[in-house]
Amino acid sequence: MSATNAIGWGFIGASTIAAQHMLGAVRAQRGHEVVAVCSGSLERARAFAEAHGVARAVDSLEALVADPAVHAVYISSTNEKHLQQVLTAAAAGKHILCEKPLALRLGEARSMVRACEEAGVTLATNHHLRNAATHRKMRELVRAGAVGRVLFARVFHAVYLPAHLQTWRIDRPEAGGGVILDIAVHDADTLRFILDAEPVDVVGMSQSASMAREGLQDGVMAVLRFEGGALAQLHDAFTTPHAGTGLEIHGDAGSIFGRDVMTQRAIGEVRLRNAQGDHVVAVEHADLYERGVAAFCAAMCGEGEPAATGMDGVRSLAVALAIEEACRTGARVRIDAALA
Ligand code: NDP
Repeated sequence: MSATNAIGWGFIGASTIAAQHMLGAVRAQRGHEVVAVCSGSLERARAFAEAHGVARAVDSLEALVADPAVHAVYISSTNEKHLQQVLTAAAAGKHILCEKPLALRLGEARSMVRACEEAGVTLATNHHLRNAATHRKMRELVRAGAVGRVLFARVFHAVYLPAHLQTWRIDRPEAGGGVILDIAVHDADTLRFILDAEPVDVVGMSQSASMAREGLQDGVMAVLRFEGGALAQLHDAFTTPHAGTGLEIHGDAGSIFGRDVMTQRAIGEVRLRNAQGDHVVAVEHADLYERGVAAFCAAMCGEGEPAATGMDGVRSLAVALAIEEACRTGARVRIDAALA
């Protein structure tokens, strides 16, 4: 497959994210088109296909992956379905861009990575925040030593879950609902990316204040300890309409302040304060999903790596699951994402 041949995508999941961001992100790639959509309900698949100009609608995963016009799949079903859908697509030789969290359990996520390796297909995780110009700039500043030795990070990612998404996330534990698998997993991935380091253990407390039911959480605060000793504080919620988002990095020689950066949109500001002064750092905003899909497309054509690999999905899931365990048990939980 070359980067210039026509490449067909099958969308697995007639979801909100597929409609709002990913169709456009795929169509922004030259030579790429979404040729089929698969849903658990044929009616929903047909409605999605009609609304978005997708040629084929099916309710059978096997039929979708048997379609020779489908070279790559994008999986955005509810989280408990990702495992089987990835395994089926890998067995059919399709490249896979899968939504986060990759799976509900670590062993499942590892088996997805292994299956894709064995099948020789690319597996990427749709951790879109790595593609934000703001986060990329923060990583660059940290690497360049602009803040000295990193001692602390703080992530503010407490938002309000819109009414149309107040479904499985707040009342279906078996579908992987709850704020930790939904939002904290993104924080974990973004911190791993910016700090270029892995967290080693975590403490945390969660809340079920008003929205979540069935034992799920709608708010959490956690502290991760990274290799090298840096501490990172996370605050995530579904319940706070006016909190705003941000990510800060504090080192022994400077601080970086990211404002409005934990978002799906290409917005936000990065400010650097150190002995040289206090100024806004220029960033060139671009669509996060388009950038992620472009990296995935290049990777499946043998050029470079996806923005977030399958293994990044495993590692960031390991952090989220450790946060869940820490909140449940009150213990400090060790994070271990090793494949072995
Ligand atoms: P949605 O709730 O919109 O859709 C999830 C699934 O629910 C769909 O695949 C569909 O199943 C089913 N569904 C959709 N509409 C209906 C309906 N009216 N009645 C019954 N079932 C319905 O989920 P999201 O788009 O918010 O999330 C999907 C995935 O994407 C999750 O894994 C989530 O974590 C991830 N996500 C990632 C984001 C990112 O920025 N990386 C942002 C948002 C979500 P079926 O497939 O059978 O049609």
